[in-house]
Order: sequence, then C-alpha cells, then structure tokens
Amino acid sequence: MKKTVTTLADGRELIYYDSADDIVRDAVDPRPLDAVSTSSEIRRDPLLGDSVAIASHRQGRTYHPPADECPLCPSREGRRSEIPDTDYDVVVFENRFPSLAGDSGRCEVVCFTSDHDVSFAGLTEEQAGLVLEAWTDRTADLAELPQVAQVFCFENRGAEIGVTLGHPHGQIYGYPFVTPRTEQMFRSMESHRAETGRNLFDDVVARELADGERVVLEGEHWVAFVPYAAHWPYEVHLHPRRRVPDLRELDDAARTEFPQIYLELLRRFDRIFGPGEPPTPYISAWHQAPFRAPGREEFALHLELFTIRRTPGKLKFLAGSESGMNVFINDVPPEAAAQRLREVASE
Ligand SMILES: [Zn+2]
Repeated sequence: MKKTVTTLADGRELIYYDSADDIVRDAVDPRPLDAVSTSSEIRRDPLLGDSVAIASHRQGRTYHPPADECPLCPSREGRRSEIPDTDYDVVVFENRFPSLAGDSGRCEVVCFTSDHDVSFAGLTEEQAGLVLEAWTDRTADLAELPQVAQVFCFENRGAEIGVTLGHPHGQIYGYPFVTPRTEQMFRSMESHRAETGRNLFDDVVARELADGERVVLEGEHWVAFVPYAAHWPYEVHLHPRRRVPDLRELDDAARTEFPQIYLELLRRFDRIFGPGEPPTPYISAWHQAPFRAPGREEFALHLELFTIRRTPGKLKFLAGSESGMNVFINDVPPEAAAQRLREVASE
C-alpha cells in the first residue's frame, strides 16, 4: 500500500491510498475555493447528559447532484471534483461540510473506489482490503490528535438512510468526547467484570457460538452473528475471534480474511428481500475503543451492520417508543433474521 498526503485548494487534507507502490499522485487542485468556515458547536443536554453537534453550515451542502457532477468521482478536463487526480484507488479527505471540525473533532470522507456505479459489495477483495488499510491508517493518525477522543468509521448506504451522494463512500468521525453508546458499553463491560470476573465481549461471543442459532457466518478469524437482543430487523455483529480494542491491533491473519467475510455479509444483505428488490439500505458501523479511556484494552473492536428495511418496500421508522423513549421494538425475531442470512449464502 502506498500513501500520498496532499492538500486541497482550501487547505483541507486529502490522502490517496494506492495498491501499487510506484504510483505518483501529484495532481494539484486548481479550484478557486474559499477556506472552509465551520461553525459547529458542541452543546451538552442538561437532562440527558449527552452532546449534540449544532452544525448550521451543513444546510448548504451538496444534495443529490447529477452523476456527471459527482464530487467524489475523479477530476477530468473541464470538470473538477474533490479529488484532483484523474483516477484513484481509495481516497480520504476532510469533509467540506463537517459536523465536527477544529476543536470539536474531525469529519472525513472515504471514497471506496473511483467507480461511481458499484457498491461496497461489488468491490474486489483487494479493493476491500485497501479500504481496511485506509480505515486503520486514519484511526492511527487521528489517535495522535489531542482533540480526538474516539474514531468512528462508518458507511451509510442508500437514499433511505439519507445518503445525499450516490458514489460509494463512507465517513470517518473523530469525536472530541466518548460517545454515549460507547460509554454505555463500557458501563456494561465494567459491571460484567465486577460480577463475573470475565470479559463481557468474550462471554457474548462465546454464548453466540455455543448457542449457534443466531450465527450467520464463521471464518477462521472472524465470527458474525445476529445479537440475542437485536434492535434492528436485520442486524449482524462481526467480531474478530482474537479480541482487540481497535483496528490498529488486528493481526495480519484477521486483516487478510476480513475482505472475504465482509463482502459475503454485504452480498447476503442485498439478497435478504429477494430478487427484484432494490439494494438493501444499510448502516455499517465500526465500534472501536476510545483512545484514552481507562480499561480500553477490555473493549472489543467489532462491526455492527444493520438495515432499516423490515420487509420489501417497508422501512422501520424510529417512532414514538424508539425516538421518544429509546425502547426499540423489533418485528423480526433475531433467530429468523439469522436463518434468512444463512439461506442467502453465495457458496
Ligand atoms: Zn461519483
């Protein structure tokens, strides 16, 4: 893998990740861009104790542009995009419309491929492996920034999830605080340790493997299952068998196997609702330990993949109980979801 760091016309950082070690990336961004002015502000809710990023500048962001104006496609003569070069493998750059910026963290965009018309599931194993390298490298770099407490790599896929650009891409958020979900997991992890003397994540994975009913896919180094109390109609948690706190600590064997396992999961997701259905909208979310949290070594890096579609043409909305009270109601039993995700295997 070759990494080339450059800056865009407004000073934002852009990084190329290439498979070929001899590639030269020296294209310059000629666009007359004003420096980015961001005004995001983190406000703490006094009742819930959580934080909200108020980001009014995002209202003007690019919204469903035509394909020939895609800002994530490579540049070509007469049409300049966010990526100065005329081709790329994987590229990461600072979001021009960040929810978090400056002292309040960082928001980056990851373009998975220069091909506008594929989805992550359509990448080759080599391409998916390069994306994993990019996620890992960004996690390592952002760990060095004092204002970043936690890194979240994720992909929103599908207009139903509110994706405003069709080009295959994901995002990386560097939060200036530990997120509420991660804090919650730490609390559960600590009380489990106090009660049993064991690691919560190890026990959860062991229970799923022993039970077997909700296991979707087992590799030599990765295990995927629908959790016992899944919140979403189709939800899969993917864990490396060797527990590590973040992407940086995955060993080579797990890294090598990851593309095969993850691509298979995504392809199964697209088959859940049968042929003729539009691609399944999903959220794919990497959970990593915060960098400076006490007990971080106990945390388990894992990926949570879920869809908000519950049946063909029907979405699960976060309505009264979910949005008003944080109580999820899931119409699809986790065992049935796992059974479906095994049925639609490619092999
Ligand atoms: Zn594009």
